[in-house]
Amino acid sequence: MNVEDFVPTLDFARKLDNEDALSGFRDEFFIKPDSIYMDGNSLGLLSKRAERALLDTIEAWKEYGIDGWTKGKQPWFFLSEKLGEMTAPLIGAAREEVIACSSTTTNLHQLIATFYKPTGSRTKILADGLNFPSDIYALKSQLQLHGHDPDAHLICVRSRDGRFIEEDDIIEAMTDDVALVILPTVLYRSGQVLDMKRLTAEAHKRNILIGFDACHSIGAIPHSFSEWDVDFAYWCNYKYLNGGPGAVGGLYVNRKHFEVSPGLAGWFGSNKEKQFDLEHTFTPAETAAAYQIGTPHVLSLAPLIGSLEMFAEAGIENIRLKSLQLTRYLMKLIEHELTDLDFVVGNPQEDSRRGGHVSLEHDEAARICKALKENGIVPDFRAPNIIRLAPVALYNTFEEVWKVVQVLKVIMSEKQYEKFANERDIVA
Ligand SMILES: *Cc1c(COP(=O)(O)O)cnc(C)c1O
Repeated sequence: MNVEDFVPTLDFARKLDNEDALSGFRDEFFIKPDSIYMDGNSLGLLSKRAERALLDTIEAWKEYGIDGWTKGKQPWFFLSEKLGEMTAPLIGAAREEVIACSSTTTNLHQLIATFYKPTGSRTKILADGLNFPSDIYALKSQLQLHGHDPDAHLICVRSRDGRFIEEDDIIEAMTDDVALVILPTVLYRSGQVLDMKRLTAEAHKRNILIGFDACHSIGAIPHSFSEWDVDFAYWCNYKYLNGGPGAVGGLYVNRKHFEVSPGLAGWFGSNKEKQFDLEHTFTPAETAAAYQIGTPHVLSLAPLIGSLEMFAEAGIENIRLKSLQLTRYLMKLIEHELTDLDFVVGNPQEDSRRGGHVSLEHDEAARICKALKENGIVPDFRAPNIIRLAPVALYNTFEEVWKVVQVLKVIMSEKQYEKFANERDIVA
């Protein structure tokens, strides 16, 4: 059974579920009855293993107090490194190239402070016009700290259609005055996957360093950062990785850069043997661990222990396969069931260019999302007109995807959305 043999029946959806090799993982998550969660790309759901890992950590605190740093199941002193090692297979990196630390935006600040070294006329940072605002704020403030006018030194490659960024346009903008390129792996609105391998090769041909924001790809698609020779990357762990609200983030630094001292130094970046010598001369770790700053937020790291175990068991290649099937199936149902209702599928059609969510555009998107919520379906809304639907491989089913489209059809035919104002809530 394959999504390509599509028929629009509930029976077909159930057959797909019966043949799904990952279906067992759903039972490991807390799924609310009568609710369909399609927002795992904003905040992944809690799993029983993540909950257990958090409770174990609290238990260790009770039991050991300060000695929890070195005792118990998961000594906290080594936890960031351990989680880096568990994350490495998801991004195609060696374990010493990955560390769980800080947050997305803080890690970006760290990496820019470390790798943005304007010299001569090479002073610019190249980004894209559709990136997440926090990344852009960080880049502009870093330029300012270097005494550069952010408006003149941040080049944002424009989208031709408001949805996608053409790799050719990015490459054309890699001019002699660019020091650094920062791009998302997957665009957060349209779900476009950028060709990271090609972009890295083209940047390096021009002696430009390149780093990626992997927030919308980690846990959803495989990466080969080491093989592609990507210089660095950073991400959050609360979206597809289900690490919980405000989970500690992660970063990758290519081993060839290990000698570069962190731009923002702190004692948790120390060589672990030396850290408690408490000297005023900083001896950084010789791995990606050097780019940590202060004491890790242990309670916001702990759930990841349980969560990442599940990714290791499921295998990121299998997760990607199922995710592509789920989004393909959703697109086929939309095409079949929601005709003449002014919906536009705004994500790439090709598997290689499509991330983990479907980006459904509609002029009434804000209030259609509210109507979906009233019907027990959790999407998210991105202004001005996008309904993001993320069927997640580890816990969503084909039957749920089928139901979402049936509900959308009813919402539209009954004009249920007219009850609501077409504006976003405070957290959309
Ligand atoms: C979710 C997301 C962030 C969030 O950054 P935080 O520092 O974790 O708040 C940043 N960039 C992108 C592309 C994201 O999708």
